[in-house]
Amino acid sequence: MTIEGIRPATRLALPDLGTKIEIREAGSQVGLARITHNHPSRIHTTMAQLIFLGTAAALPVAGRTNTSLAILSDRADGNGLLIDCGGDVYGSLLRGGVGPDSISDLFITHAHIDHIGTLPSLLESLRLGGRRAPLQIWALPQVISVTHALIQAYDFELTLDTWAYPVRFTEVGDGESITLAGIPAYAASMDHTVPTLGLRLELPGGVVAYTSDTQPNPHIGRLSQGAATLITECTFLGAQEAKARTSRHLTAYEAGRLASECGAARLALVHQGPPAESIRAEAMEVFSGQVIVPDDLDTLGL
Ligand SMILES: [Zn+2]
Repeated sequence: MTIEGIRPATRLALPDLGTKIEIREAGSQVGLARITHNHPSRIHTTMAQLIFLGTAAALPVAGRTNTSLAILSDRADGNGLLIDCGGDVYGSLLRGGVGPDSISDLFITHAHIDHIGTLPSLLESLRLGGRRAPLQIWALPQVISVTHALIQAYDFELTLDTWAYPVRFTEVGDGESITLAGIPAYAASMDHTVPTLGLRLELPGGVVAYTSDTQPNPHIGRLSQGAATLITECTFLGAQEAKARTSRHLTAYEAGRLASECGAARLALVHQGPPAESIRAEAMEVFSGQVIVPDDLDTLGL
């Protein structure tokens, strides 16, 4: 049994309270664990960390909130990327052991409520929490418009100029290369019921591609080619394919097929609709690599 994401020289040191670790046995993932000790932190990782802040589809369930992700290239440098803000993102960051000030950039994939709905709450919680560092928000132009409407609804727009911390907005389009929290990234249009961007992130440990919400489409190929880790949504099972087409989402079978096509080493399934074991089994029918069905606050070394 080995623990991924921990530098060999410090393998016996203990990760932060709340840190989740991937447990592998004979080369296969057997679980994702959560550190619950209270020892002080002595761990430093050379890998980036991906924290699944939420893993549910649009309808949250007990213990599983709307899908959002945090990627920390280095926990120490305060340079972290948050992807989407539905659900209680601020609380999830705290429960995941991520100081909210560690998030420098927020990328919003699209303007559905389960991906953007709690932006005002996040901004206000950061202010109340004493944030001073700038927050950079990235999104499609039409999504930036929604962020302004949400902020204006709470009169934040009148005060942002003199607020406790600067909030900056940058529009992103299909095919654009950008830098998110110090990570070289590439955005590609997906095929959902509203304009949506997927992300390709070039991390030192390998490429991470994230589809966000979409049905199968040709752009996923250029987003995910050669990815070490493919993260896809998984709102339905194959038996619900008609629903998936109507709402422009993926089935677990399609997620597995996409992972096979891009040659990913592992597939992580988020935006989970059906039960975890059902989607895992269906994805494994067509993808022979590692299939991860994370719970909220599980963490992966990248
Ligand atoms: Zn969604």
